[in-house]
Amino acid sequence: MIQKTSHYRQHAALSRAAPRIADPPRALARVCTVFTLRQTRPALRHNGTQRNKSAARTRALATWLGRVLRAICLALLLPMLPALGQACSGPVTLRHVAPQVWIWAGQSEDIHPVNGGHVSSSVVLLHDTHEQGRRLTVLDPGPHRRHGSALLHAIRCRWGDATLQLINSHAHAEHVLGNAAFRAADPDVPILATASTIEQMRAHCPDCLRHLEQMLGPETMRGTTIVLPDRRVVAGDRLRLTAKPWEVLEFERAHSLSDLVLWEPEHRTLIAAGLVYQRRLPVLAQGSVSGWIRALDRLLALRPNQVIAATEGDVRDIESTRAYLCDLEAVVWRGLELGQDAVAVGQLEMPRYTGWAGYRTRHTFNVQRAWRELEPLWMRGDRPACSAPDIAR
Ligand SMILES: [Zn+2]
Repeated sequence: MIQKTSHYRQHAALSRAAPRIADPPRALARVCTVFTLRQTRPALRHNGTQRNKSAARTRALATWLGRVLRAICLALLLPMLPALGQACSGPVTLRHVAPQVWIWAGQSEDIHPVNGGHVSSSVVLLHDTHEQGRRLTVLDPGPHRRHGSALLHAIRCRWGDATLQLINSHAHAEHVLGNAAFRAADPDVPILATASTIEQMRAHCPDCLRHLEQMLGPETMRGTTIVLPDRRVVAGDRLRLTAKPWEVLEFERAHSLSDLVLWEPEHRTLIAAGLVYQRRLPVLAQGSVSGWIRALDRLLALRPNQVIAATEGDVRDIESTRAYLCDLEAVVWRGLELGQDAVAVGQLEMPRYTGWAGYRTRHTFNVQRAWRELEPLWMRGDRPACSAPDIAR
């Protein structure tokens, strides 16, 4: 069930407060294009239709002015051509995946130095209106400042002058530490998150930052600082992130203590962030097996056409993530029924998932984490979130 509010919050104040990023060469190129078009159009429109001398003088003057402006533009732009040519080079590939939505897809891998922690996607949403101009929203700017800087560079290259805001989906380092790059570029850039995510980041980001420094090395993490979100969103908010409104959904105690999901119902596009995994073993460290399964049931009930997680996918990614969690729950439940202990059950393989990234390093941990959660439920005589496994005694 989606939580809804009757009001329509568009966060217009945020867009007014959002800063503009500048790209002088591209801004100048745009101005020159506009000048050139405006100066040539009158000459074309009046050609052959005006007979008197006054009109001919005006036309000649407009043509002359147009030539002068074009010459000035060329003189100014020529020294900037190398910068224009280099502006789009870099590691970021922004792929257009839905109307006004681009992603820089992450790797379906666990975090390690080679992938630089880029295991989740950064999503860029464009809202372009005549009245307010371009506003870009970046959901999850990545694991460190260098990553965020590369993303910001690519955004400037593609969209030039635009207002910016960030959203943090949940309080995991690989999603949020890239905030540092955007805040360094502009100290006023708004960062939105749920209240719980802000609290979790405040409490745990220092440890997460140290952990990522150990995993990725000081060079990769250089300049990365913890930048907390400064704007709260709640479930039911509707944000005008593209031409269509996006609904904010929040799931408590699923993959993390608070997982924000964005849903655009007209195109049925779902940005699932940390809740959906694609051929990578779900990370359960701060999560709940039961809560996560219930969250995925709600996502399935939306019947999305498109599901964006680490990369672009579809409803099958929700189903496969749910299948893993249900199978994990079944393995643990069966162990409880048979009187086994968590260590013994953790040594049992789940063959269907051995090819998923992170299986070798995380399978046993996930079993033990699920055991801690499910044992009290089993002792109380509760039912598992998925159907109870058949126990062949
Ligand atoms: Zn996460």
